[in-house]
Amino acid sequence: MSSIKQVIVIRKDLKMRRGKEIAQGAHASAAFLSKIAQGKADLDHIQREWLESSYKKICVVVNSEKELMDIYNEAYSVALEVNLITDSGLTEFNGVPTITCLAIGPDIPERVDNITGHLTLYWTMKIITKSIEIAESLNTYKSKQFRHFAFLYLRNKLLAIGQNNLTTTDPKAIRFGGDYPFIHAEIDAIAKLWGRTFVGPKLRMVSIRLDPKNRMLISKPCKSCMSTIVGLSLPVYYYDGKNYDRNL
Ligand SMILES: [Zn+2]
Repeated sequence: MSSIKQVIVIRKDLKMRRGKEIAQGAHASAAFLSKIAQGKADLDHIQREWLESSYKKICVVVNSEKELMDIYNEAYSVALEVNLITDSGLTEFNGVPTITCLAIGPDIPERVDNITGHLTLYWTMKIITKSIEIAESLNTYKSKQFRHFAFLYLRNKLLAIGQNNLTTTDPKAIRFGGDYPFIHAEIDAIAKLWGRTFVGPKLRMVSIRLDPKNRMLISKPCKSCMSTIVGLSLPVYYYDGKNYDRNL
């Protein structure tokens, strides 16, 4: 069964730094192995299979300690492997020990999904992954000029896709604050929604640039696009050469 998975549930309400969040999630993920290493539990065949396959992990989010504890209690009550992580608070949370996350499983999806299937995926990754997939599918030789893409989302819902057009001028390029008449992906996406949806802080933009072989290039919006984006208080995610960064 290759779809055996572990689900990591993170409290987003704590607004942990990314590194902290990763460390907490890693604690949660490794907790069941730690018990086995200490001789407090045995590896079962499902866990073994997971370790021998792809370590599938899903990261989902909750927005309060209560939500997290409800998930914990539900998983515990059906005898799922569940490990809750409490951070000592030494470096964050003003010295107050704080429950940050948990991991369920690894176990078969049916058992895990009953408890966590309704939770929102760690959505930034979700929309970025989705954007990359779409950008790759649009990045064909037929559309050579379209290698810079901008995606606008309301939560996880894709509302518009913008693309660079460097061969035909477009009056919208200047109208939306551009410095020259060829439209950029970001402005194209914004222009598509203009007058239909309020383009502002509730939406999120993902900027993707690909080379002809679908390799990711730095996709930080140019100065001109960025000033429009910032003017609209629109959060934008872009590839900075290592990670996805965010402007706001
Ligand atoms: Zn631009």
